[in-house]
Amino acid sequence: MKALVFHGIKDVRVDTVDDPKIEDARDAIIRVTSTAICGSDLHIYNGGIPQPRPMVLGHEFMGIVEEVGKGVGGKLKVGDRVVVPFPIACGTCFFCNRDLPGHCEHSNPDHYGPEGGVLTEKGGALFGYTDLYGGYNGGQAEYVRVPYADYGPRVIPDSLTDEQALFLTDIFPTGYSGIDWGEVKGGEFVAIFGAGPVGIMAAKSAWLRGAGRVVIVDVLQYRLDKARATANVETILWEDRKQVIEEIRALTGGRGADVCVEAVGFEPERDLLDRAKAVINFEKGSPKVLEACMSAVRRGGNVSVLGVYGAYFDNFPLGQFFDKGITLRGGQAPAHKHIDTLLQYVIDGKVQLDDVISHRLPLAEAAHGYDIFRNKKDNCTKVVLKP
Ligand code: NAD
Ligand code: ZN
Ligand code: ZN
Repeated sequence: MKALVFHGIKDVRVDTVDDPKIEDARDAIIRVTSTAICGSDLHIYNGGIPQPRPMVLGHEFMGIVEEVGKGVGGKLKVGDRVVVPFPIACGTCFFCNRDLPGHCEHSNPDHYGPEGGVLTEKGGALFGYTDLYGGYNGGQAEYVRVPYADYGPRVIPDSLTDEQALFLTDIFPTGYSGIDWGEVKGGEFVAIFGAGPVGIMAAKSAWLRGAGRVVIVDVLQYRLDKARATANVETILWEDRKQVIEEIRALTGGRGADVCVEAVGFEPERDLLDRAKAVINFEKGSPKVLEACMSAVRRGGNVSVLGVYGAYFDNFPLGQFFDKGITLRGGQAPAHKHIDTLLQYVIDGKVQLDDVISHRLPLAEAAHGYDIFRNKKDNCTKVVLKP
């Protein structure tokens, strides 16, 4: 089959690779009909999260069930059209039972060894997201093996197009998690940093949860324009940290936002100043977005970190955290926890998701898709690939 393979930093190619096979009774094989490139894929592409061997990328995919293992039971049958949440989770372990599928103990039993580098705790697994996250091939491919297929995949009604449903795999539940972690109940002032697809999904989710006012911040005007058009938000163009914080304070009677959502993450060129030690020196400029969130949030407020970070970070603003009594949450979003609620919102027409898409490309042009999404060319906001 054809698949998008990561070969090295900024080197991804569509290659012919072996077709996936059922390896465990709970597996299914999905024929991928639509798959997207995510800001998280860019961390691998940029070299921020290392991947030592070639790997098929992609964790946002949907398609048709081609084959099911004997252990999948009646949960899924050949011909079903499904979306697959991006964490690979067993559904039965300690963490899965606590709605933490991104930390499943069974999908990635022996990764993050005690001497395994900067990440020293055992972690979960994701589709197509490096050996650190389980070493599973991803879904930017014609076919993909889906473990625990009786737990993750959700059948999608025929009334929805692929593009209406695809973002249930990751960015909609992720944006929603930022708002859920932020404890938005109604009337809050929400400031979202990063007007990429994740930030836009956080904004849509903020409205679904009854936010009073939603402001989005980005360094790129075209991303702000897209956010305004798709999520009806107010916008702030980031020129420098101080100006953004002052604008948010001015909009909130000097108090600051009730909730700040970090939807940017790290970039190695920008943030990894000392790669040998994998330590980021904040005073030299990073991770400045998280620090801005801590400054722009009000006392007693909530900060949600959706952006991916992959190293130790120096000079974390612990003083602000303590003095302001900030609640800080983050991590891989628990997609399984929210997917059914969010699927119902889509079915009921309460939210539109496909309006974030700017480019639709055949799988064969996936490398071009990475280039325009990574380099913010051609007003790119989200690329969907059609195998
Ligand atoms: P993206 O690259 O399209 O969007 C990031 C946006 O941040 C861009 O529009 C960029 O211009 C903006 N930005 C850069 N510097 C900024 C600054 N100083 N202030 C404000 N904005 C700034 O990526 P995306 O797909 O929207 O993903 C965003 C982040 O979310 C990534 O780090 C990704 O890895 C992460 N993510 C996390 C999860 C999760 O489960 N937690 C899931 C999906 C994605
Ligand atoms: Zn993603
Ligand atoms: Zn589990």
